[in-house]
Amino acid sequence: MIDLVTGAAGFLGSHLCDALLARGHEVIGLDNFFTGRKENVRHLLGDPRFELIRHDVTSPILLEAGRIYHLACPASPIHYQYNPVKTIKTSVLGTIHMLGLAKRVKARILLASTSEVYGDPEQHPQRESYWGRVNPIGPRSCYDEGKRVAESLMVNYRAQNGVDTRIARIFNTYGPRMALNDGRVVSNFILQALRHEPITIFGRGEQTRSFCYVSDLVEGVALMMEQDGFAGPLNLGNPQEVTVLELAETILRLTGSRSKLEFRPLPADDPERRCPDVALAREKLGWEARVPLADGLRETIAHFRRELKA
Ligand code: NAD
Ligand code: UDP
Repeated sequence: MIDLVTGAAGFLGSHLCDALLARGHEVIGLDNFFTGRKENVRHLLGDPRFELIRHDVTSPILLEAGRIYHLACPASPIHYQYNPVKTIKTSVLGTIHMLGLAKRVKARILLASTSEVYGDPEQHPQRESYWGRVNPIGPRSCYDEGKRVAESLMVNYRAQNGVDTRIARIFNTYGPRMALNDGRVVSNFILQALRHEPITIFGRGEQTRSFCYVSDLVEGVALMMEQDGFAGPLNLGNPQEVTVLELAETILRLTGSRSKLEFRPLPADDPERRCPDVALAREKLGWEARVPLADGLRETIAHFRRELKA
């Protein structure tokens, strides 16, 4: 059986390709290299079971596959706000094209959705049954609403066309191969700490996030794909909630950095609290995140050190 991974040269996509190949699968990766890099999958290019195709999912494609992991979409606010119309097209047209393909070749398809569908939530922690609080005209809407439409497409292709779908709602994930310039909080703080530059805290740093290490996340995604009879949506994330300030302090300690904290204005619509309720993942998949934040950060810091040297 062939696995198709869209967004294969990105952060999560490249780790997912590693994991699927390690399980003995054949993998076709699609990417338009907007935020992904060939470097992320260079070590796979000699593997006869791996094929990388330059393709933009806003155009249709015809391929044979048994499983489609649909990850293509920029994920960091800086990247998805760079060309918001393109972000919407990627989520909406990209998901329509991948669902059309799944329907045609009878593949099972998993959407990499996001905790952003909950917007700036009034319920805490967020359960799958919560509908969210998203500003449809705010700066994050191209991403949040794009993913909400993508979820609706998944549900409706399932009901109307019998496509075998899975919706994974992924919470903030970090690890090696995050793009250095992606502006996300973990990559920003590690880079700033390693360069002894000021750590840029947006707002007062009291907002929270829950960070999941990439190996845990990829395991959850692969398990969900192979789970029969449960379409989701399903939260995948680490429920250990930390403030942005606590994250900065942990990274300063682990890097031994001399960086000072610098407070900057909070971006519009920045969610105040975010933490997954993972009871359903435990029940349906027997899955939960295992890597503690400090351990995952150590691995990520080591990777960033190597990248900076190179
Ligand atoms: P990423 O930016 O590293 O990877 C996205 C990949 O998709 C890149 O390789 C990019 O070049 C590719 N891509 C973008 N637009 C495309 C298009 N039109 N056609 C083909 N390829 C395209 O981001 P990531 O962190 O690896 O995220 C992967 C997926 O997981 C995304 O769908 C994202 O929304 C979702 N997600 C990620 C997180 C996280 O914390 N990393 C959280 C929630 C959801
Ligand atoms: N953030 C910060 N400094 C930075 C980058 C981000 O304080 O240099 C904050 C940001 O305002 C948000 C949190 O960290 O509250 C997570 O931001 P990120 O862009 O990583 O992801 P998202 O907001 O999409 O969860």
